[in-house]
Amino acid sequence: MSQPVDVVVIGGGIIGCSTAYYLAKAGLSVHLAERDKIAQGTTRAAGGMLGAHSEYLNDTFYSFAQESKVLYTEFQCDTGADIGFTVGGIVQFACSEEERIALSRWNNAAYLSAKQVRERIPHVATPAFGAYLFEADVHVHPEKACLAFCAAATSLGATVSEQASVDEITLLHGGYQIRIGASIITAKHLVIAGGTASAKLVPGLHMTAVKGQCMQLNAMGMHLPYTLFHKGCYVIPRPDGTLVVGATMEQGLTDLQLTDAGHLALNTIAEHFIPGLSHFPVMSRWAGLRPKTVDDLPYIGRVPRKENMYIAAGHFRNGILLAPATACLIRDLIIGNEVNTERIKAFDPKRGIFHEANNRTERQSV
Ligand SMILES: Cc1cc2nc3c(=O)[nH]c(=O)nc-3n(C[C@H](O)[C@H](O)[C@H](O)COP(=O)(O)OP(=O)(O)OC[C@H]3O[C@@H](n4cnc5c(N)ncnc54)[C@H](O)[C@@H]3O)c2cc1C
Repeated sequence: MSQPVDVVVIGGGIIGCSTAYYLAKAGLSVHLAERDKIAQGTTRAAGGMLGAHSEYLNDTFYSFAQESKVLYTEFQCDTGADIGFTVGGIVQFACSEEERIALSRWNNAAYLSAKQVRERIPHVATPAFGAYLFEADVHVHPEKACLAFCAAATSLGATVSEQASVDEITLLHGGYQIRIGASIITAKHLVIAGGTASAKLVPGLHMTAVKGQCMQLNAMGMHLPYTLFHKGCYVIPRPDGTLVVGATMEQGLTDLQLTDAGHLALNTIAEHFIPGLSHFPVMSRWAGLRPKTVDDLPYIGRVPRKENMYIAAGHFRNGILLAPATACLIRDLIIGNEVNTERIKAFDPKRGIFHEANNRTERQSV
């Protein structure tokens, strides 16, 4: 049995790694267990947009997202890590008068007429009703950001195990004994950040998957100064001269298969934004599973009736955007800092727990 720690974090995606970092930064001893490899789950599949406006769900989500973006900037300044932070912002297309009116409510966005869109983005398919530029909605490289959080956590003393599936959690007096493969570790607190697999760790938790396929194109020297966004689809310019085109939304699928239908859909998205883009060389294609909750808002908070057990999962389309703010909220709950009650209510995991079959047993196999 290894040394007891203050917190075990289950899951080495962007949520688990950022949580491990902020906990370690607060002076807690942390162990992170990942059943596969760090940053290889849904995190790796993400575009990396910090789309606080394009993904707006409600005001609580919005203020949380805005705070998270600031935390990314601070993290980058504090650590100097390369997280693929790319400025420019998101240009949201208005293809109808209704869409233009809906976007016009944001007073922190710049309106671009159709002519201005053409001038600023030469190759673009001009949106009939112009576009809005959200300059502060930058993007990061999801895998790099996740690895950077993990590296920063370990440099603060956190330990990390890969190929380390958490198979059994046993409640001790005010803490947990966690079986990770052949080893056992004890911790006062437990944070479940297992993405779509979190439902296996919290009995009765409602979590579904929405598959998304993306493709990465060689930009062939074409300079795209902004991310282009319309109705959940996008083209993201990466600093390495590639363009990420995404993404499909395939409800209820749990496979990572790349399909012809998915490729066709991505070609249609590419052409929607930049005519001819579907003929650019495809460098790679991939799929990921978005962890979806009952209402698209994440589950962040205490697991009901499980003392010192927390969940941070179900970030759906916004796990990269919300990771640092999620991590800080979990940290504040664990160390007893004051927390925003509106957020606690909006993200309460109770929303998604419909039966608690195993809650009365003390030992839980996962
Ligand atoms: C195509 C696509 C595009 C996206 N684009 C964006 C975007 O632009 N911006 C944005 O903000 N979000 C985006 N998202 C959403 C984002 O990727 C997710 O919300 C986020 O990655 C979820 O992170 P996570 O850490 O919860 O899950 P994951 O990255 O899946 O990590 C969970 C980890 O837990 C591990 N695990 C599970 N069970 C156990 C266990 N029992 N023991 C040990 N380890 C375990 C898994 O192996 C996995 O590595 C996109 C998603 C997709 C699919």
